[in-house]
Amino acid sequence: MDGKLQIIHTIVNEIDNIMVRGSLKAVIQLAKDPVCNMNVDEGKAKIKSSYGGKEYYFCGPGCKVSFDKNPAKYVKK
Ligand SMILES: [Zn+2]
Repeated sequence: MDGKLQIIHTIVNEIDNIMVRGSLKAVIQLAKDPVCNMNVDEGKAKIKSSYGGKEYYFCGPGCKVSFDKNPAKYVKK
C-alpha cells in the first residue's frame, strides 16, 4: 500500500511544481519556438538562430534544423 501513497505524493509534488512555475511565468521570458509553437524559456534555451536581425529559440535541435532550412516559412511578417 506504500506504493499508492508514493504515487499520490508524486502527484502532489508535480502539482506544486506546476503552480510554482505558473507564478514565475511573469518573470521568465518565454519565447515561442516558431517551428512547433512551443513556449521556450529564453534564459535556458541553448538552441537558437538569428534571422532578419531577430533571435529565435527552439525546443530542440530538430526544430532548429527545420528553421534553418527555410526560415521564411516560419517567420510571419
Ligand atoms: Zn520545437
